[in-house]
Amino acid sequence: MTSSPQDTDLADRTTEQGKRVLLAKPRGYCAGVDRAVITVEKALETYGPPIYVRKEIVHNRHVVDTLRERGVIFVDETDEVPEGALVVFSAHGVSPAVHEEARRRNLRTIDATCPLVTKVHKEVNRFARDDYDILLIGHEGHEEVEGTSGEAPERVQLVDKPEDVEKVEIRDPSKVVWLSQTTLSVDETMERVDQLKERFPDLQAPPSDDICYATSNRQYAVKAMAPECDLVIVVGSQNSSNSKRLVEVALQAGASDAHLVDYAAQIDEKWLEGVTTVGVTSGASVPDVLVMQVLEHLSERGWNQVDEVTTANEKVTFALPRELRKDLKENPDAPKSVR
Ligand code: SF4
Repeated sequence: MTSSPQDTDLADRTTEQGKRVLLAKPRGYCAGVDRAVITVEKALETYGPPIYVRKEIVHNRHVVDTLRERGVIFVDETDEVPEGALVVFSAHGVSPAVHEEARRRNLRTIDATCPLVTKVHKEVNRFARDDYDILLIGHEGHEEVEGTSGEAPERVQLVDKPEDVEKVEIRDPSKVVWLSQTTLSVDETMERVDQLKERFPDLQAPPSDDICYATSNRQYAVKAMAPECDLVIVVGSQNSSNSKRLVEVALQAGASDAHLVDYAAQIDEKWLEGVTTVGVTSGASVPDVLVMQVLEHLSERGWNQVDEVTTANEKVTFALPRELRKDLKENPDAPKSVR
């Protein structure tokens, strides 16, 4: 599903003197986030508040705050949800143990796990069934990694930092596979794979890319514009893995400076000193309204020219969770989606 960078025409772009903004496309909401947010909104509309959501439905402060105002109660664990109540599982996925706990407590559940995360869960199950050791490249403590590892905890070993490669213990070097979190840096993941291959030459690759189309596409777009940027502003939250990776990719690809902000108001005036070209992008959990506010903020400071740098056109959509679809009813007074 990864789209290759197309000709972005950067070389032909007018390099006139003066301030300008390069706006990455694709940016912002991916299909999995869109589905998860709409799931919670439709659940509110169909069943009425309160709706419980385990963890942040997506890693974005604005989205979470807006849904909280509409009657969503975010909890860390299912044991905080009253018996028999409705709980939505977030886009990052949950382990079978969480499903089991919800069943035990008689909770009604809607699973908003992104289908591309579910795909990785299925790969873990398949390789565990075939008695492989599974090396999961990902960030320790991230919810997605906890959910994915939880599919076969006895077979999965997490590889996060370079030094983790030496700690891996394998039973049979001919039966070892690497899988990954969906929101990693494409380049760093391949570095980790190369390291692992030095220890395990027969290491198998995932049947298809685990880093999802949205993560890869946003990184390609940033790479295309970064060499021209004195500063790249990534809109996204501190706990958003794919947003943080965009800052790193921007710097690695040649941007002189790059920062992550939740809101326009967090842009430090000092970052803008001596800057001509500002690149702007956003993580996969960020509504575009926040990017528009950043553009407005920059426009008020003289960055009026905005050129979009397009490296892919995304058309991916996912159907809403089955548990919700069966109960959906039209409500003309439904709130607008958080966008
Ligand atoms: S970033 Fe990728 S895996 Fe995560 S929700 Fe979006 S599409 Fe799904």
